[in-house]
Amino acid sequence: MSAEERSKRVAVGIDLGTTFSVVAYCDGKSPPRVLKNSLGKSTTPSVVCFKGDEVLVGQDAKDEQACGELNAASFFKRRMGDANFTFAVGSREYSATELSTFLLKKLKEDAERELGRTITDAVVTVPAYFNNLQRRATLDAARAAGLNPLRALNEPTAAALAFGVRANDSNAGKKYLVYDLGGGTFDVSIIAIDRKEIRVLATDGDHLLGGKDWDDRLLTHVAERFRDETGLDLFEDVESANEALVRAERAKIELSAREETKITASSRREKVAVSVSRELFENLSSDLFERTATLCESTLRSCVPALTWKDLEGVLLVGGSTRMPAVKRFMEAKSGRPVLSGANVDEAVAIGAAIQAAVDLEAAEPRYSLESGSEYLLETPRLADVCSHTLGMIAENDDRSKYVNSAILNKNAPIPARETKRHKLNVGNAENPELEVYLLQGEQERPLDNVILGKHVFSGFERTGAKEIQVDVTYSYDRDGVVGVEAAQVGSSRNLEKRVETVPDDMSWTDGVPKELTKSVSANLSIVFAVDVSGSMEGKPVEKARKAFLSFVDQFDLETTKIGVIRFADKNDVVLRPTRSRIEIERAASKIQNAPWTVGSGTSAIPFDDAYRCFTNTRDGLRDSFAKSPSFGELRSRGVGALSGNDRERRFVVVLTDGQWLFQSKAVKKAKSLAEHGIDVVAIGFGGANKKFLREISTMDEGSLYTDLSRLEESFSSIAQTIKGNGLKRV
Ligand code: AMP
Repeated sequence: MSAEERSKRVAVGIDLGTTFSVVAYCDGKSPPRVLKNSLGKSTTPSVVCFKGDEVLVGQDAKDEQACGELNAASFFKRRMGDANFTFAVGSREYSATELSTFLLKKLKEDAERELGRTITDAVVTVPAYFNNLQRRATLDAARAAGLNPLRALNEPTAAALAFGVRANDSNAGKKYLVYDLGGGTFDVSIIAIDRKEIRVLATDGDHLLGGKDWDDRLLTHVAERFRDETGLDLFEDVESANEALVRAERAKIELSAREETKITASSRREKVAVSVSRELFENLSSDLFERTATLCESTLRSCVPALTWKDLEGVLLVGGSTRMPAVKRFMEAKSGRPVLSGANVDEAVAIGAAIQAAVDLEAAEPRYSLESGSEYLLETPRLADVCSHTLGMIAENDDRSKYVNSAILNKNAPIPARETKRHKLNVGNAENPELEVYLLQGEQERPLDNVILGKHVFSGFERTGAKEIQVDVTYSYDRDGVVGVEAAQVGSSRNLEKRVETVPDDMSWTDGVPKELTKSVSANLSIVFAVDVSGSMEGKPVEKARKAFLSFVDQFDLETTKIGVIRFADKNDVVLRPTRSRIEIERAASKIQNAPWTVGSGTSAIPFDDAYRCFTNTRDGLRDSFAKSPSFGELRSRGVGALSGNDRERRFVVVLTDGQWLFQSKAVKKAKSLAEHGIDVVAIGFGGANKKFLREISTMDEGSLYTDLSRLEESFSSIAQTIKGNGLKRV
């Protein structure tokens, strides 16, 4: 029996993808290999389908989905760590972690059958920009599936490993760009080779950009042709739209090998075959390629010192969507060099994860002597990874005029990382002062424009009589991207006590002025514009909506008004949290028009929970009814200087919809709940919108308006006037 067989632990690498997942194995001696699933395929669709008591995972689930089964969940990776996302099946609701657990269990089972051994450990990959919560949710899913997660490895890092870019004298100094375009995500990383290690210099990504967007472009084109020829809206028939989407993806893949293909769409006994050439397809999607290039360039610029395409040795292509010939052409044109790509671009991440799994297991449980040969592992370069987000805390700025995000650990610092920053704590005469550290993740100066990861309260300070205490706050970031917070009083040997508290619902005080200065704050407005982007809005309606929204914005003074944007159809997408930045608002407006068309039976998502989260920066959504209104007692007890009722921000959700909502009574309850929180709903509808429903979700007298497309701008304008003049009365 070999040492490998004697060991009880077996580790695999798992690429837990948005559309597909892959498992690979490396025994440490021979090159890694992908483990085939029970159907003999190397990729398993990341789809889970609930059918009666049965849970189908992978291809079976994807087939059911293609037949129009609505209880099939896909793309749930995008919602990892989102406490408010659930996939409802009857009375049961599943989180993204639970859905991933079903998927991981199936991957484990299939891999065990292929390997003939029980799998105990795994390295699971995550997109480079996954935040702490998303990484944690991924590791939790692995544990729940019966796997010991060795680490969460950044996908581009895993890919680089798989390409076998070796750290040695002849490669030292070379830099590569890893371009990873998968089914639902785009990742870009810049890596630098040293004599002894590979370092990730910078990493970024767009989790709303992937092969699915290219499918959507084809689907939109087919739906347009279908409407031209039959006068019917394909999106009104969920089953047909789903079938057409599956055919669109198939056609996209065919277009990687040939110049021309056909997509058929059928609905209500009408059938239309649409011819698509590769050239047309590339034209329909050229802006998507441009978006990837823009991200590559900003990532190059974010390196220190800043890099350009010329500084690169080459570009590594990873992810199934890089099989589109245009990607290679486009990247070669940009970088001026041939790209490096393998035949199995969709296996590279899993292969890299398997290599890392073998390295980690070898470190934890050395099994091979040098004589018995661990050549493969010995050749594996050491990896340096980076923090994908800046970590900071809420602190007063120097002149104490506002709260800011005070950065402690900077984005792209190599991990594991540890950094300390000294803060002054004004304790006055308090007997038992406490320091509240709100852990922020993100690069924005305004605290609420970042993700608030948690609240840590430190107590047990030594009193010296001084009004100010100095505290060293230390952040650490481990190799899984999991964050730790510690604090120590300068000049004291006493250990501080730490407790972790939930982040309060209402964090709006961070937009106020610290302490005594609060009196001068004038009343502010905060508006979240929630726009329906279901299929029927596509084309003219959405173009008009964007224009009307922009002229609506023009009517407000952005010094005192913040504006946010949510798109919704069969799910919500917070495009922009309320902000005063005109550039960001304009960018969000363009996303209204370029919505990734979600296929769904009209509008099944309700934007009110996300609107509430936008205002309060909480992770919890609304409950249907609230016993208590928001309290500022908490703020007072913090000594922050509570805002008086008059100084409070007035908050509005302006909804624009053109169709029937699937869950109307739930939406009405949520709207009422918003009103209980002092947030008002104004509803504008046209087309298929229901006047009675608009009235019901509106929380104000005359707060609903049924209009038509040609009068959209006017209607928005009158709503803006009433909001500004506060002419609306609570219902
Ligand atoms: P990944 O998540 O890396 O497995 O990528 C899956 C994505 O790659 C899906 O959007 C597929 O449609 C896409 N894909 C796979 N093969 C091809 C191909 N030959 N041409 C274009 N796209 C492809």
